[in-house]
Amino acid sequence: MTQPALHDLGVAQLATELRERRVSAVEAAQHFLARAQAHQHLGAYVALNEEATLAQARAADARIAAGTAGALEGVPLAHKDIFVTRDFATTAGSKMLAGYQSPFDATVVARLAQAGAVTLGKLNCDEFAMGSANENSAVAPVGFEAPAPVRNPWDTSRIPGGSSGGSAVAVAARLAPAVTGTDTGGSIRQPASFCGITGIKPTYGRASRYGMVAFASSLDQAGPMARSAEDCALLLSAMCGPDPDRDSTSLDMPAEDFSRSLNDSLDGLRIGIPAEFFGEGLAPDVRAAVDSALKEYEKLGARLVPISLPRTELSIPVYYIIAPAEASSNLSRFDGVKFGHRAKDYGDLLDMYKKTRAEGFGDEVKRRIMIGAYVLSHGYYDAYYLQAQKIRRMIADDFQNAFKDCDLIAGPVAPTVAWKLGEHGSDPLADYLADIFTLPGSLAGLPGMSVPAGFGEGGMPVGLQLIGNYFSEARLLNAAHRLQQATDFHLRSPL
Ligand code: GLN
Repeated sequence: MTQPALHDLGVAQLATELRERRVSAVEAAQHFLARAQAHQHLGAYVALNEEATLAQARAADARIAAGTAGALEGVPLAHKDIFVTRDFATTAGSKMLAGYQSPFDATVVARLAQAGAVTLGKLNCDEFAMGSANENSAVAPVGFEAPAPVRNPWDTSRIPGGSSGGSAVAVAARLAPAVTGTDTGGSIRQPASFCGITGIKPTYGRASRYGMVAFASSLDQAGPMARSAEDCALLLSAMCGPDPDRDSTSLDMPAEDFSRSLNDSLDGLRIGIPAEFFGEGLAPDVRAAVDSALKEYEKLGARLVPISLPRTELSIPVYYIIAPAEASSNLSRFDGVKFGHRAKDYGDLLDMYKKTRAEGFGDEVKRRIMIGAYVLSHGYYDAYYLQAQKIRRMIADDFQNAFKDCDLIAGPVAPTVAWKLGEHGSDPLADYLADIFTLPGSLAGLPGMSVPAGFGEGGMPVGLQLIGNYFSEARLLNAAHRLQQATDFHLRSPL
């Protein structure tokens, strides 16, 4: 039997190979760096630093030799360029942060490094994580002179999804065994679905937001993206845990081993099927793949229970008020004084602010700042922001109501497969509407996953979304893992 190539190994297998010294961390890092170079046209990476990567890999090899290896010792990973990193530039996809070098690592990055992971580089994303297609990045990918779109490896004329588009592409094209992403309104789940990989957004507060460039602080959450649920569980176990001194919203719950129940039986599991996720807007090819995954679950012993999430449609206006409101406040720090871009020619201080922000931010970011400032302004606050907060609470209550009748909720991640680059043109609403199935769980702060469920139009991947109640990550990963033992969609490769 021929040995599988290094890039075809999952994180769990690769960690074993490394620990048993059949491959060195340096060899593994070099292998993936070479692949990243060879597939530059996909636009996934925005920063590499070979010297730093190899230094980390040598340190990992030394720990393996000394018998002090961590759970992910020597495993190469890459990070969404929204996490600050000491050894790699951080841009958050924005001109505003061009050339920015952080003096510290984000907590999530540091925790993965503590477990022994080696950083390959940073991955493209929508500017400040605002987008659903990764078409809003203002940064030139590695090998490009100018900003270029991230391409879906299943069909390079299509978008990879967003905002963690580079992250999803890196995993799908085997340019990294696993990566980090962030999800504010779907940015882990939707690109995972569009690229045929697995991703999980944990309960809000499970992972520290320290060192994650802030978009909408009450929604932003870090999570892993990998080929399988098993690999996601390994990464998530290393990423989560309290960070009281640095993120006051991180939960006071000890780190957990999310792999502990991967193989548990699904016998008797009640899976809620929200009627509102299967209505008019859902494309037939997506519906077919989702339905076949649900049939698999029935074969595995689960029971499908009809439920209702009656305010699903309202999650779009609610999210697109709350997220921009928080963004307008978070992004006020980019004023040309403290860090990042500063306009060259300006008159007084106010003129410097104006020119700096006009030059540094892209269109989508400006749109959100303006909407956010408007809905928070005197006279409109009650009509928009406060109303949105009230409905957000009702959306969260709807989930609690539903969880009286079911253990997990399942449905599509997005209404369609990945669309063509430029297809939504300059119509931001078309992108916003495509977020309909991921936004409700985000607004409620619930954990959610995307699991490969089949293929649709144009041979494009379709993901199944699983949403759990608070702190049910281990249960979600268990359900995903069992499906992946019964199917092989997550193992298929576009290359
Ligand atoms: N598409 C959503 C937005 O543009 C979600 C983005 C995200 O989760 N970061 O806001």
